[in-house]
Amino acid sequence: MPAIAGDHLTRSSAIAQSQDITRQRPLHESRPLWADSPRLSVRLHPKPSQRDYDVIIVGAGISGALMAHALADGKRRVLVIDRRKPVHGSTLASTAMIQHEIDIPLHKLTEMIGEADAQRAWRRSARAVEQLTQIVADLDLSCGFERKKTLFLAGGAYGQRALRKEVENRKTAGIEADFLDTATLAERFAIERTGAILSDISASANPAQMAAGILRAAMARGVEMVSPLEITDVRATADGVFLATSEGEILSSAYAVFCSGYEFLEAVADRNHAIVSTWALATPPGTRLPGWLKDCIVWEGADPYLYLRRSRDGRLIVGGEDEDSEDAYGSRTKLKRKAKIIRRKAEALLGITLPEPDHVWAAPFGVTRTGLPLIGRVPSLPNVFAVMGFGGNGITFSQIAAEIVSSDIAGHGDGDAELFAFEKP
Ligand SMILES: Cc1cc2nc3c(=O)[nH]c(=O)nc-3n(C[C@H](O)[C@H](O)[C@H](O)COP(=O)(O)OP(=O)(O)OC[C@H]3O[C@@H](n4cnc5c(N)ncnc54)[C@H](O)[C@@H]3O)c2cc1C
Repeated sequence: MPAIAGDHLTRSSAIAQSQDITRQRPLHESRPLWADSPRLSVRLHPKPSQRDYDVIIVGAGISGALMAHALADGKRRVLVIDRRKPVHGSTLASTAMIQHEIDIPLHKLTEMIGEADAQRAWRRSARAVEQLTQIVADLDLSCGFERKKTLFLAGGAYGQRALRKEVENRKTAGIEADFLDTATLAERFAIERTGAILSDISASANPAQMAAGILRAAMARGVEMVSPLEITDVRATADGVFLATSEGEILSSAYAVFCSGYEFLEAVADRNHAIVSTWALATPPGTRLPGWLKDCIVWEGADPYLYLRRSRDGRLIVGGEDEDSEDAYGSRTKLKRKAKIIRRKAEALLGITLPEPDHVWAAPFGVTRTGLPLIGRVPSLPNVFAVMGFGGNGITFSQIAAEIVSSDIAGHGDGDAELFAFEKP
C-alpha cells in the first residue's frame, strides 16, 4: 500500500472530520415494512482482510449492491463498507415502485434541458428497468419482483392537457404510453380523474431482499463486505484514494465509490439538490383491493402527490405527502397525522375502505431540480465517484449509476455519463 504523506491524511485529521464527510441522519423513523423480511442477512467480515483494494464502495444499500454487482468480475478486489447493517439505510424504507418514469415528466424536462438530453435521460431510465429485470432473473432472486404497468393520474400539477402533451413527447422519444380519457379511466379503473397515462416498463419488489440478494451474489464472486465500519475521511492523490475508517485505519484503493444515499458526500452537496421528508404506510396482507392493482402501480401529477401499489402478499403500500423539510419526518405527531391523510386520500382515490395500516413510517428523501440524479467523478477528488440525488425512481437510478461508474472504471466510458455528471461539460 502506498504511504500517506502527512498533508494528505492523518488519523487525527480523519477522526476530527468524521461528522462531516457524509453527515449521518436517521434514514427512517418507526419500523418500515421491509424490516421484518426474511433473507436480509449478508455474510459479514469483521474487518477488511487487506489494506489495499482495487475499488472500495461506501454504502451497502441498493446502490452499493448494484455497484458491487457491476464491478465484481472475479479479478478486481472490491470491498463494500457500511456503518449500518447492510440494506438498513433508505433501502429498507423504500416503497420500491421501480419505474422508468422520472419525477419530472418528459415534456417538462425537455423545457429544462432540451429535447435531445431529456429524451436520452428518459430512454436510459427505461433501459435501466429492463436491466434490473434481467439482473433479478439472472441471479434468480427471491425478492417479490413483479413487472407492472404504471398509471399516472392527472392531478393539480399536471392536468389532462399536460398529460396529452406528455404522451406525444414520450412517443416521439420512442417510449410507449397511452392517454386514457375520463370515461376510459372510469370504466377500466373506476377512478374519477380528468385523464391518465398508462405505460409499461415498471416493476415492484421487496427492495431490501433485492439488495441483499444482489450483495450475496457479488460476494459469491469475491466481493468483501465489512459492517459496521464508517469511512470518516477521504483523500485522493496521484498514488491512489485513501479512506480513513472509524477504527483508525487507513485503507487505500485505486477507486472509491460513495453509494451513501441521502447521507451524501458533503464535498458534492449541490444547491440543485435537497433533502425533503416523506411518509408511507402499508395495510395488512390480503387487504381487499381492486383486481387491477395486481398489474399496475399508481402515482399522480399533484403536489404533494400520492402513489400506491399492491405488494405480492396483498398489502396496499401508499406514500406521499412530501414536505420541503430536512427533518419533519422525525416528528411522531406528524407521522400519525400524515398516515391519516395518506390513508384517506388512498380510500378516496380507490373508492374503498382500507383497514388500519400495520406499518407506518417516515424518511428523508432526495430531490433535484430536474428529477435527474447526480452520478460520476467527484470534482477535485481524482478517482472518487459519488452517486446521489435519488428521488421517486431512485432504484432505477442506482442501476444507471452502476452502469456509468463501472464503465468508467473499466475504461469504456458511457455515452450518457455527462447527462448526470457533477460538472457538466
Ligand atoms: C419512503 C421512501 C419511498 C421511496 N420510494 C421509492 C420508490 O417507490 N421507487 C424508487 O425507485 N425509489 C424510491 N425511494 C428512493 C430509494 O429508496 C432510494 O433511492 C434508495 O433506497 C437509495 O439507496 P442507496 O443504496 O443509495 O442508499 P441507502 O440504502 O441509504 O444506503 C446507503 C448506505 O450508506 C451508508 N453510509 C453512508 N455514509 C457512510 C460512511 N461514511 N461510512 C460507511 N457507510 C456509510 C449508510 O449507512 C447506508 O446504509 C424511496 C425512498 C424513501 C425514503
